[in-house]
Amino acid sequence: MLKHSFNKLRIVLLDRDGVINQEPGPILTSEQFVMIPNSASAVARINAKGWLCFVITNQSAFARGDLSEPVFQTITDKMHLELEKSGAHIDGQYICPHHPDWENGKRRMAPKRCACRKPGTLLLEQVSAEYGFSPDEAVLIGDSTSDFAAAANWGTCAIGVRTGHAGQDDKENADPDYWEDDLWSAVEFLLAYST
Ligand SMILES: [Mg+2]
Ligand SMILES: [Zn+2]
Repeated sequence: MLKHSFNKLRIVLLDRDGVINQEPGPILTSEQFVMIPNSASAVARINAKGWLCFVITNQSAFARGDLSEPVFQTITDKMHLELEKSGAHIDGQYICPHHPDWENGKRRMAPKRCACRKPGTLLLEQVSAEYGFSPDEAVLIGDSTSDFAAAANWGTCAIGVRTGHAGQDDKENADPDYWEDDLWSAVEFLLAYST
């Protein structure tokens, strides 16, 4: 017996790095953006089911000064292109460009936390306000403890995937509600347990 019912599910929130694409390190060029096998097909199945699909991603490389808007756009373009090859699309992308210790490529004098960097929930609050859904209508799929903690903080179900960090980043003390091998398996699980 599952602890969640997925019958109200209509929103899938995806972390990007380590869920959609491989994450050998920070993704700083479009060449470094390489899809995880079957992740695009998994998104296509989310689309076909009629669920909305949003990417919620921490990109602290902006704060570190390693990533600019134009370069990030080329990475996003590649993601869209790779998804399109499988007939998949995402309905929106929400980004935190901040880092507590960095600003404009320089170390901060004192750490400052923003509300949008996961495990913060501001991006989740923004997308849910824009599209009018509640935490119990959504699920968040991620590879990092910051994803699991964000989901828990906001009150939505989290599925951990064993790609990317596979939950081994030791940042937050948080576990997902369920584990699956990858995005494809996570979507299979959701499709099996929803109406
Ligand atoms: Mg990740
Ligand atoms: Zn932020």
